[in-house]
Amino acid sequence: MAALDDKAREPNAHQIDAKKSTIRVYSWMKVFFGDITPHRFTSEETLADFVRDNEYCCIGQSHSYNGVQVAPSLNAVLMGKSTLDFCDVDPLAKTVTCGPSTTIEQLKRELLEYDLKMFNSGNYMAQTVIGALVTGTHGYGAKATMADAVTQLTFLDGQGKIVALNRSDPSFRYAILSFGTIGPIISVTLEAASLESFQSDAWITRLSKKNALQKGSIATSWAVVPYSDPDDPLIMLHTLRQAKTGKAKKRHRPNILSWAGIATFIIERYWAIDRLLPALRRPLQRLADRLNIRSHRRTITDPRDLDYLYDPEPFLKSQRSPDILTGLFSTTHTAYNLAFHVPLDRAEEVVKFILLEVDKWRSLRFFLKSLIGVRELSDKSPLPFAGNFEGPTAAIDLFADTRDYAWLERLQREVLTQFDQVRPHWGKSAIVHEFEASLGTEEISRLRDLHRHHYPLGNLKPNDRVQRLLDLNRPMPST
Ligand SMILES: Cc1cc2nc3c(=O)[nH]c(=O)nc-3n(C[C@H](O)[C@H](O)[C@H](O)COP(=O)(O)OP(=O)(O)OC[C@H]3O[C@@H](n4cnc5c(N)ncnc54)[C@H](O)[C@@H]3O)c2cc1C
Repeated sequence: MAALDDKAREPNAHQIDAKKSTIRVYSWMKVFFGDITPHRFTSEETLADFVRDNEYCCIGQSHSYNGVQVAPSLNAVLMGKSTLDFCDVDPLAKTVTCGPSTTIEQLKRELLEYDLKMFNSGNYMAQTVIGALVTGTHGYGAKATMADAVTQLTFLDGQGKIVALNRSDPSFRYAILSFGTIGPIISVTLEAASLESFQSDAWITRLSKKNALQKGSIATSWAVVPYSDPDDPLIMLHTLRQAKTGKAKKRHRPNILSWAGIATFIIERYWAIDRLLPALRRPLQRLADRLNIRSHRRTITDPRDLDYLYDPEPFLKSQRSPDILTGLFSTTHTAYNLAFHVPLDRAEEVVKFILLEVDKWRSLRFFLKSLIGVRELSDKSPLPFAGNFEGPTAAIDLFADTRDYAWLERLQREVLTQFDQVRPHWGKSAIVHEFEASLGTEEISRLRDLHRHHYPLGNLKPNDRVQRLLDLNRPMPST
């Protein structure tokens, strides 16, 4: 795939209608794009006929930031735009089976009908379930990597034949988090959990207070004010605990007419102000830092709330007014987001390193946007390509104005140079060979072998950076 490069390659003999009907597909925030021939499907049979006879790649909703879904000049199987969106709940087994067009929101709503929920999820729900699973999409807390909940999957091999795998198959753990190297995946079965209410606490505090405040919580995420004191940055801390009787909603915040009150008001709306007045980013944050503000809000979440992990108030955040601020000016719609995983016990060190690094880059007129997100994945995933395969990690999310996305790649490279065991997010990291060390050559070769076993003729074409990382272009042993 070529970033910011629309140079079409020579059409391949296998490609159908290549010149006639190409369209441009874009990654989220439109930084990566490629020209493809689109294909939508209404049945597994026609999909199987298609993959047997063509070279192709798979696209979900094309919401990955890093363009992992884009392989230019190819037939693209547009899963998110197809109608294979079944979603069947088995309430006794507490599982749900869904298709490649099913979105996360659809899956969550279907589960709710049976008083069930997903164990964990990312903060946006328009993605396809399968696109999210195969890129290692995560939330935070236990079982944070969504793919940990998968018990079975079926996919089509290069002959269009159905292959079904479950957790007891040795290749299962490679196939389910395989970022476009196994596909199309045509169904997945996930475990679900009973509905539950949580005590959600949100503080504005200092990093030095985090350990004490998060004690006893079952899930923690924090967001760092990037231009605050690098020795002890200002953070917004969010924890979840099992809701207990007697613990009620509470709110402690400074008087709105004090400097600290005004700063709190600004910080809580920071993402909107940041968009409107980018030049004020650093001075506003320095002011908030000096005022040393504190606040605490406790909410008891509604067990039927679909996005309680990210927005503890009832209903979806997008359903509340003023929508123009929550929608149009939120970082989701205005910033490029790059993320990677670092070992949890080194997260604070990495964040402080990033703060010092970006402050030096002021002379280059680069400013991080919004806050630095840190989600704690508190257990180990059994999936070799999950961020937390080696142990608990912190998923670090960096944001910048879209035109500045390449600076985030540089930051990723600096962190990779300074720290060991930095692992990729397959929908957000720049996919570079420096990740090879933390992924392990043995695991990489297992996925490469699996891909070659099922697609010996090479008709499934993953993204170019993925091909390079897995060395998929090397001749097959038999050729
Ligand atoms: C606003 C926003 C918020 C996000 N929040 C989070 C978050 O909270 N946590 C997090 O971890 N990530 C998050 N992400 C990242 C996002 O979850 C992933 O990038 C996800 O893959 C996007 O899903 P998609 O359906 O758009 O897949 P695409 O981007 O279209 O595809 C991703 C990969 O999946 C493959 N693929 C898709 N469908 C199939 C199939 N049927 N068979 C085989 N391969 C397939 C593609 O080839 C590609 O390699 C966010 C992204 C956005 C835009």
